[in-house]
Amino acid sequence: MVRRVGIEKTYRVRGGKRGESVHALRGVDLDIPDGSAISIIGESGCGKSTLGRIIAGIEQPTSGTILCDDTDITKWNAGRRREFLRGIQMIHQDPYSALNPVRTIDEILMDVLRLHARESGKDSHWVDRHLPAILDLVGLDPGYVLPRYPHQLSGGMRPRIVIARALAVEPTVLVADEAVSLNDVSLRLGILGLLERLRNDLGISVVLPPP
Ligand code: ADP
Ligand code: MG
Repeated sequence: MVRRVGIEKTYRVRGGKRGESVHALRGVDLDIPDGSAISIIGESGCGKSTLGRIIAGIEQPTSGTILCDDTDITKWNAGRRREFLRGIQMIHQDPYSALNPVRTIDEILMDVLRLHARESGKDSHWVDRHLPAILDLVGLDPGYVLPRYPHQLSGGMRPRIVIARALAVEPTVLVADEAVSLNDVSLRLGILGLLERLRNDLGISVVLPPP
């Protein structure tokens, strides 16, 4: 279980008076039990995206602790901490800007798979097995998507590639924020259904935007 305790986040206001700041988060406690689905709900500007980025480790809180089960991960060594944080993956909102346009899907996924294989000491065949496995999980045909560039895929396929890339590192938590607030309702439902399946089948916790 991942826990964040007493999260505070303050942003300096750009161009504001000296010392002026925005309190985006104040004393937020959040538990993410294994295999849970959590939705962060609140009006626009209340700090949902900030909290999502902090959960995923993309942004550092101004203060607060990260716990794994009940141990404070700041007391771990850097390698172990990095491995734990890599297990919490953010699915980016806009699949167009999240995917490098000049690389094929094969290159995009292989970069992440090779790095993860190296950093976590996988055997030499792991990448070959895991590449088709993650595409199968997101319901895409490797023969079709791998040689193509992001712009050659449909609007329904691109977010699935973003999810496949997150799955490449064997995450325990996926943070979707507004990743699935696609305009197209059927695409949105498809992605939410996929995340629900990943939770059920793999026990991955998901942090979702409000319904
Ligand atoms: P939500 O996702 O709930 O709409 P956000 O997390 O985006 O809310 O923003 C929370 C507050 O923090 C807002 O007042 C916003 O203006 C401010 N904020 C968010 N990101 C930054 C930033 N990088 N720099 C300055 N202020 C920010
Ligand atoms: Mg937001």
